[in-house]
Amino acid sequence: MKEIDVTKIINEVKRLCIEAATYIEDDVFNVIKCAKNKECGLAKEILEQIIENDEIAAKENIPMCQDTGITVVFVEIGNDVHINGSLEDAINKGISLGYTEGYLRKSVVKSPLNRVNTKDNTPAIIHIKYVLGDTLKITICPKGAGSENMSKVKMLNPSDGIKGIKDFVLNTILEAGGRACPPLVVGIGIGGDMEKCALIAKEALLRKIDDESNDPDANKLEKELFEEINKLNVGPMGLGGKTTALAVKVNLYPCHIASLPVACNIQCHASRHKVVIL
Ligand code: SF4
Repeated sequence: MKEIDVTKIINEVKRLCIEAATYIEDDVFNVIKCAKNKECGLAKEILEQIIENDEIAAKENIPMCQDTGITVVFVEIGNDVHINGSLEDAINKGISLGYTEGYLRKSVVKSPLNRVNTKDNTPAIIHIKYVLGDTLKITICPKGAGSENMSKVKMLNPSDGIKGIKDFVLNTILEAGGRACPPLVVGIGIGGDMEKCALIAKEALLRKIDDESNDPDANKLEKELFEEINKLNVGPMGLGGKTTALAVKVNLYPCHIASLPVACNIQCHASRHKVVIL
């Protein structure tokens, strides 16, 4: 049994919050640079500004964007791990320290009705999965409201099929326009029930940019939607161009014979997430 001290979790979560806000992931950054080379005019100029912004953030240790997000946390805990305290309290303490000591914007309100700021960006949205092994994996994914607000869930009829799924995704991207800060990473969850499709769509955002689905149907859909989304001419920051999506990821889950739940979780060009394995 591996013993993990809560202090270690607090310190790691604090570090990840600051790093996720400040340093873009290499795979995301590289694909933005490749996209810049394929664009011209205003689209190219905007991608150059995004690249410069990310470079300044990393060099000066400041956030890439003023909206440092609500903190979504994915945890995988092994059956041979013992933590000497509350895992959720430790994660929230780490977030509180990260957002206050890291001078990140506090964007969480205590109640959606009273709108009073909690002043330390807690509580997080925490998803815990139990796995085999003796490791604790924590993924921090700060999600800005611009992209999250444009994400959607729809309960389709099975008879809507692939065409229905594509229409839903393409309309979601078109409706989002520039408000989700494209170019986007598009996470699509298909199957499960209403909440499961939303969860696997968000998990899809954590996959590497060059990762392809092992499922042949999902793989085909990823490629087709990538092409179709990039023909929509939404473009960088919604001002037109060939680059609307940097990547499209499709996650599947079994579902009821009478259901076809689909979620489209949109992530902006910052595509922030950081991982630690303890
Ligand atoms: S969508 Fe992303 S880039 Fe746009 S404001 Fe929100 S966090 Fe910043």
